[in-house]
Amino acid sequence: MTATARRLADIVDKVRAGERLTFDDGLALEASADLFTMGELANLVRERKNGNVTYYNVNTHLNPTNVCVYRCMFCSFRSDLKGPTAYVMTDEQILARAREATERGCTELHIVGGLHHQLPYEWYLGIIANIHREFPDLHLKAWTAVEWDWFERLTKRPTRELLAEMKAAGLGSLPGGGAEIFHPEVREKICDYKADADQWLRVHREWHELGGKSNATMLYGHVERPEHRIDHLLRLRGLQDETGGFQTFIPLAFHPENNTLGQGIPKPSGLTDLKMMAVSRLMLDNFPHVKAYWQMLGIKTAQVAQSWGADDLDGTVVHEKIYHAAGSDSPQEMGVAELRRLIEEAGRVPVERDTLYREVVRPEPAGRRWAAGRELVVLG
Ligand code: SF4
Repeated sequence: MTATARRLADIVDKVRAGERLTFDDGLALEASADLFTMGELANLVRERKNGNVTYYNVNTHLNPTNVCVYRCMFCSFRSDLKGPTAYVMTDEQILARAREATERGCTELHIVGGLHHQLPYEWYLGIIANIHREFPDLHLKAWTAVEWDWFERLTKRPTRELLAEMKAAGLGSLPGGGAEIFHPEVREKICDYKADADQWLRVHREWHELGGKSNATMLYGHVERPEHRIDHLLRLRGLQDETGGFQTFIPLAFHPENNTLGQGIPKPSGLTDLKMMAVSRLMLDNFPHVKAYWQMLGIKTAQVAQSWGADDLDGTVVHEKIYHAAGSDSPQEMGVAELRRLIEEAGRVPVERDTLYREVVRPEPAGRRWAAGRELVVLG
């Protein structure tokens, strides 16, 4: 047995015994090419936490503007104020998107965008307040920690106060974007200026302390090294130990098209994607869910990832702009029937969830309720 194989065997024993993995264990996983053992282990953890269920939701994206003061090197979405693709949606367009979401049966609107230097914080607050007033049943998952940090810079008011204000206006939860790679060796290269790791984690801590839930991400497959990824995961695990406010971790594969960082860097391979899924599931022992975001991974890899630690395929989406600008060749939306088929074909039980992982029961097909023990949201 090689030293690497012996090391992996130790990790197998630890995971089977329910022991927490260390930074060095994470590096050993990263160094291993034994994808099947990693998958088996990640699947063990996934099934301990979520059984045979794979979750999905019915959601729509809203990116109110792509004008952004920052120039993150991996970003293919942003535009300068006078750039040919620059846009700012009107209040009417924003409400029309929310109406469309409601009419399509969405339970969630995922709202993120650029940091527009000529729009005040009140514009962002108004988006939440206006949508919530018109469509109070739509869960609004809005603004990454980077945007919250920007709001603080704009208003000179503490993020905790802004979070509370927007919560009162109808904010439901926080998305996990903007985390990229926390380690300063990488962050300073790819997205200098914007919120650093401490600021990102502080915003989520404050939101959790207000009783809110949020998600977390990691952008992998560019200039980072394995130790940066493990460091990233352990910082998230540390905050989760303190607050318990994270619901889902979403490993995001870097897409190299139409951005400056991508020159000369190939897209992560399917093997890397599966390995990142498994390593994430194994290191984040206190996160309830790990998501295979099919828009980013591609449908085929996302489907397989259900056996490498993922228990969530995200949603039907609709109007996804950010990863398609970076070259994602996934469809821009997927129907519920197709999502369910992808889940069932992998031998899993599809369960529609709302943003807070309560099971959604729709009138059709009539009375279809999956397992007992999960909170149900019955839509009329
Ligand atoms: S990733 Fe976000 S903050 Fe960075 S340039 Fe793009 S839109 Fe702006």
